[in-house]
Amino acid sequence: MKDQPANNFTSVWFEFAGIKGDENKLAKGYRDFVLHYITSNSESRKPYIFYNTWGRQERVQWTGEKYLASMKLDWTLKEIDRAHAMGVEVYVIDAGWFKKTGDWEVNTDFFSDDLKEVKAKLDKYNMKLGLWFSPTVAALSSKMYQSNLLNRMSFNGTQNAPNEICETEESVDMCLVSGYWKDFADKLITLAKELGVFYFKWDGIGQYGCNDPGHFHGGSQNSAQERSERYAYLLPQYMAKIVDKVCKEVPQSIFDFDVTEDGRCVGLQFLSAGKYFIINNGPYYHNFDLAPMWKSVLPGGNANIFVQPGPARGWFVRSVLDYDKWIPSILFLTHYQPDEPRNSQIINMGSLILGQNGMWGEILKTSDAGVKLFDSVLTKYKQLREDITSAQMVQTGEPGGSPEIYEKINPATGKGCVVMFAGNGKYSYVTQHPVVSPVWKNDGVEIKKDNKGRAIINATFTEPSAKIILFGIDKDD
Ligand SMILES: [Zn+2]
Repeated sequence: MKDQPANNFTSVWFEFAGIKGDENKLAKGYRDFVLHYITSNSESRKPYIFYNTWGRQERVQWTGEKYLASMKLDWTLKEIDRAHAMGVEVYVIDAGWFKKTGDWEVNTDFFSDDLKEVKAKLDKYNMKLGLWFSPTVAALSSKMYQSNLLNRMSFNGTQNAPNEICETEESVDMCLVSGYWKDFADKLITLAKELGVFYFKWDGIGQYGCNDPGHFHGGSQNSAQERSERYAYLLPQYMAKIVDKVCKEVPQSIFDFDVTEDGRCVGLQFLSAGKYFIINNGPYYHNFDLAPMWKSVLPGGNANIFVQPGPARGWFVRSVLDYDKWIPSILFLTHYQPDEPRNSQIINMGSLILGQNGMWGEILKTSDAGVKLFDSVLTKYKQLREDITSAQMVQTGEPGGSPEIYEKINPATGKGCVVMFAGNGKYSYVTQHPVVSPVWKNDGVEIKKDNKGRAIINATFTEPSAKIILFGIDKDD
């Protein structure tokens, strides 16, 4: 119990502050705090463009294959070439890259050279490597489990049966609120140094699950319920401790925690160390299978509108952008999709640059014109991304409405973006903040300035699409 001495109480994360002014001013001050001061792990706040292989693995699985059917060296190398051509900077290999959980060695059946060629290609492109982890499991035969037998989770005296993790060896549940937390942190430090992992995606951590009396969340003097609740209470603190330990040793590391499924803890504690992976592909309820005209695009006849091309995915996943008033959207990673047709690509890219900054799916199927479109817009975005990230969102309209308009202009520089989403029609918008030139915009947009330097935007939509307007790029090509 030396991590939690009996007379030493550590609270969950909370803040106390006052400000002179209204709620908006308070929100802006708080947002700046979350972006710049709540953590010293500053890489997690940077607006890189992220790619994750899970969107592709899932599509392969929809054809009746295994999730790991595409987890191969040649496929990965080709995808890195493509991701680079489209403007991606962090390439995250999702579940299945490893031989077994706990020890987290590379599966050499898939990557015979321990990811060396993958890392070399990423280095050549100045891209970074990310990998998926499930911190609360360890394979039965792993060295990690053998040296942490007492740190296995138990509930009311019973240990869960071993479980297969993403088509790999059966694993048991491990308690992060035990001495195991340090071994796991040390394992990640080793991997950061040996494999060059920069981005750690965490998945599968449930907030409840352990009431073992031999760990750091209560002993035999406490009731089972107290130990269970104390585990849930301490879990995010131990997650943040692991992140902070790794970042102290390898300061450029980024951690995200996947909260796309139920039973996962959210709150400020993890944001004091990393960021959230907030939405996957949406609810797979069959009442959203409304996209018969797109059935040819996705394998397996999947008609779920949230994974199809078109506007629906954006309506759903942009719903988290209203957090941006208080918490920067760069802390809510979500992946947009690069599928044709062009208007869908513009909608997805326009959404991405508002701060969720992720892309996934079958990028090898994107046409040459589509690749050029992503590269062209994201290259311009990168000139402005610090301004866009620091700017508090001004939102007009709700996701799914027409129009739906987002302004992210840094008042200090006049640089930033406006993105408008709408169906057919003509729409106008005047920016809240003054803007600077040159301006880049896609088709159907006219811009004038009023006498306060604000942009007057007139946009004509001839199909459901997005208008992307970038203020203050170096040159207008
Ligand atoms: Zn425990």
